[in-house]
Amino acid sequence: MSGAGTPLSGIGMTSDRTRLRMVEALRRDGITDERVLGAMLEIPRHHFVEEGIASRAYEDVALPIGHGQTISSPTIVAHMTQLLFEGQPAKVLEIGTGCGYQTAILARLAKEVYTVERIAALMDKARRHLRDLRFYNIRYKHADGHAGYADGGPYDGILMAASATHVPEALKQQLAVGGRMVLPVGTEDQWLYVVDRKESGFVEQKRDAVRFVPLLPGLA
Ligand code: SAH
Repeated sequence: MSGAGTPLSGIGMTSDRTRLRMVEALRRDGITDERVLGAMLEIPRHHFVEEGIASRAYEDVALPIGHGQTISSPTIVAHMTQLLFEGQPAKVLEIGTGCGYQTAILARLAKEVYTVERIAALMDKARRHLRDLRFYNIRYKHADGHAGYADGGPYDGILMAASATHVPEALKQQLAVGGRMVLPVGTEDQWLYVVDRKESGFVEQKRDAVRFVPLLPGLA
């Protein structure tokens, strides 16, 4: 699927090699889930950023995607996806579609993905890119992710790509029993949280220090 038929296919050769190097670096960094590494080897990350910065797409950095937002670094995408897929979720909700790269990784690994974005222009662009790459198992919603995406729930997995001040209650309610949510929480200091919903209730783990854009209210 390496960018075939896309306007960026001209740099396909280079990106295949640099993508392999990115995946080798992730492996050295402790990403062990072969499904995650395989998906990241397959999905052309450069397809999701503007042509002017496409040559930097495989560096381990967050890059601008417009509207003051950033595509998360490969390390954070891999780390969050690995945490989410420990439980083999079939139906996943993503909050913060952004450029759609993380969406593609999720859609490669799960049966169905529901994704919510508050900035219409980003959502439209992500939808176009994901259609070009022939992903048909994704549902999109232009909405405030604080409320989740009730129509598709409950979800086996929920991943949020923007930092909330607290774990949003609606998302907890849309998480299936046995499901897992991975999200950043905090404003100045942010931490990655893993929230598991068990028969007996919610179990929260505070993991690594992270840096995300804020989860903002309302639509744009
Ligand atoms: N996974 C994305 C991350 C983009 S940054 C990527 O790799 O491109 C986080 C995204 O969350 C931004 O696109 C931002 O607009 C979106 N966002 C912020 N607050 C939101 C909210 N309340 N509901 C939905 N999306 C939100």
